[in-house]
Amino acid sequence: MSGKLILILLDGVSASLFEQYAHRLPHLQALTETGLLIQRLGADANANSMPARAGILTGVDATQHGIYANNLWNGQYFPPAQASDVRVPTLARVARAQNKRVASVGFGLVSADDCDWYLSPWWEDGCQRAKALSAPGLHSLSGGSESLTRIAANDHQLLQQGWQLLKHQRPDLLMLELNSPDYCQHLLGNERELVAWSLELVDAQLGCLLSRLQESGLASEYNLAIVSDHGHALVETALVPEHIIPGVKTHCDGGLLFVACNNPAELDSIDTRLSAYGVTRLDNPAYLPATHLEQLAVFVAPKNTSFEPAAKHAGNAPTARPKYVSTHGMGPAHPDDERIAIFSGPGVPERQIISRANSLTVTPTLAQLLGITYEYAEKSHVDAVL
Ligand SMILES: [Zn+2]
Repeated sequence: MSGKLILILLDGVSASLFEQYAHRLPHLQALTETGLLIQRLGADANANSMPARAGILTGVDATQHGIYANNLWNGQYFPPAQASDVRVPTLARVARAQNKRVASVGFGLVSADDCDWYLSPWWEDGCQRAKALSAPGLHSLSGGSESLTRIAANDHQLLQQGWQLLKHQRPDLLMLELNSPDYCQHLLGNERELVAWSLELVDAQLGCLLSRLQESGLASEYNLAIVSDHGHALVETALVPEHIIPGVKTHCDGGLLFVACNNPAELDSIDTRLSAYGVTRLDNPAYLPATHLEQLAVFVAPKNTSFEPAAKHAGNAPTARPKYVSTHGMGPAHPDDERIAIFSGPGVPERQIISRANSLTVTPTLAQLLGITYEYAEKSHVDAVL
């Protein structure tokens, strides 16, 4: 076992999307042939970016790690989830406590305090915070028509930064994210050839890193884990909660809606008004930590429907054409939320395909490849897939 690991989060690649386009992705396909592919990695209860990152980093569900949505209720409103909101030690912290040298290059929900080298993710300060990087690939992102290009360029810069660290510092754990497929699907998910392009782009970018690892001899030292955070599903209609339940504090998380409520009577009224639009209340406690069950309720949109805030839409209509034509977090056991994981390297058996695995198997597998023990993963009672 090499005990060195490169973890690359591939944002928004569903099991079915990968199955459909794998033949056009030579580098990812080659990794599945020299390693292990999980064809359907189960989704987290909330299959959105931050809960899924927390799941990968901790191996426990949201009732324990606390990241139940992309934005978290603070008693007054829903600010974005941050690394300091994660309630259990992350893989980065545990690895570092076991004398591993850790680099996080734009990986969400990892604390700079737990890293030897660190670059903030693009949605926090626009990658403006860096630690121990002499020339960080700072890349500010702003809105506008070229934002897809900027996301792709950001992926490129994170890979460049990652390679510089591998070449000069050889961290035991390098974590980074590639976000183009997710963003491309949000904006252009119904234009399938452009979605295929975003996959081919990240595949080519990965291929560049893989070539460098081979040529430098580092390929024999590092295990590689490529894990998607969630899938994607096409959306035809967006529900605008402010125009259905005015005055209620809400957070739209793709197909899920988090609602702050003060008492059961208010919740019943909210439930009645949302149900007129086919929205269903979820009473599954897996969605929320016990500390929030009294304050928040979770609702799921009907098929091909999402929630979007009023700030994204002009007028007062309760429904709108979605700004994101594809999204995720579609509710309990939705197959489009399922994603893939690929493991390859000296610690991984060759040519193995696992048709289905539990969401929480990822963390113990990462810990095993890294050669560390991770007690919180054991508490989830889920074993590594290796
Ligand atoms: Zn994501």
